[in-house]
Amino acid sequence: MKTPFPPLELPTRLLHGPGPSPVAPSVLEALAKPCIGHMDPEFMRAMNEIREMLQAVFETENEMTLACSGTGSAGAEMLADNLVEPGDKCVVCVNGVFGGRFAEKCRRAGGEVQTLNATWGEAFDQDALVDLVGELKPKVMMIVHAETSTGVHQPIDKLGEAVHQNGGLLLVDCVTSLCGVPVKIDEWQIDGAYSGTQKCLSCPPGLAPVTLSERAMHKVNNRKHPVNSWYLDLTLVGNYWSGSRAYHHTAPVNMNYGLHEALRLILEEGLMKRFERHRNAHELLKVQLEERGIEYASDPLNSLPQLNLVKVPERLKDEAAARRALLEEHHIEIGGGLGELAGKCWRIGLMGHGAREENVGKIVEALDAVAP
Ligand code: PLP
Repeated sequence: MKTPFPPLELPTRLLHGPGPSPVAPSVLEALAKPCIGHMDPEFMRAMNEIREMLQAVFETENEMTLACSGTGSAGAEMLADNLVEPGDKCVVCVNGVFGGRFAEKCRRAGGEVQTLNATWGEAFDQDALVDLVGELKPKVMMIVHAETSTGVHQPIDKLGEAVHQNGGLLLVDCVTSLCGVPVKIDEWQIDGAYSGTQKCLSCPPGLAPVTLSERAMHKVNNRKHPVNSWYLDLTLVGNYWSGSRAYHHTAPVNMNYGLHEALRLILEEGLMKRFERHRNAHELLKVQLEERGIEYASDPLNSLPQLNLVKVPERLKDEAAARRALLEEHHIEIGGGLGELAGKCWRIGLMGHGAREENVGKIVEALDAVAP
């Protein structure tokens, strides 16, 4: 019987919003490789290589480093569910959407949550946070390294030591930072970090790279209460990724092929070169936008190259219509403002494979047409 549903036909878009980002052709080809079993020794070999490559990009030797099945939010829940025990004092830094979400995840895991708040678009003063850690002595402290809702690049290198001196664990959201700016898990003494495949790794959404320190795994292995989520329980998932290789859930096999290729491309390019490429594309965009009277809205001293938060030009009556025209007429996606910045700001992503000077040229040319 003929179905009324023809095969999908999709436009090719230039993805310059807050993610997903452009995907390299070889990653798309890897996704289309033949599916094999999730317990096949050849797939196990691919998993081992993924773990090794994730350790390289996270700059860590953490044994518990894996690709959690699910998007970045699953990675966040994996950390909250495994590392927060009922009654734990959790201090969560909120200066945008994603810190707020993590606070909610900690509450749901039974934590006693206190939020520290900064104005959206501004970074926290790290020294002030270090002092607060001494006062509050959290069991779990959490901060977002790259706030995708505001473009803030949060300095975090001193927090781990302070949190450890006070008996806690430091968790960091690296969804938008990983592979776009340095993320030094071991040097910065981070106990748990999660990311997503669809930002600066330039793979479609679907997996959440996660890494946990030995200190964090000690807590997981000595919990008084079982982890609320069976699916995200690290003692079970960890066994599948290393350990006894016991079946836990059916890994999204082809997504892992895509991640394998994305990581391979990153390491082939080299992390330093990749960071420099992001920085160069950002600087070019900034000059070009400022020449057109489009101002940046994020903290000038702590802004991300890969996520450019700019003010909607005042001359524009309908910002949503301009973004729609960019998408429909020029096939370029940029992001609107999120939360309190909706309608006031745009978020222009220059992530991963898309952080290139030629892409900046295309974005600016299209903006000239829709927002003259
Ligand atoms: N954290 C940050 C900083 C993000 O930017 C995002 C997504 O944009 C998330 C968490 C959630 O990730 P996902 O949408 O992949 O579940």
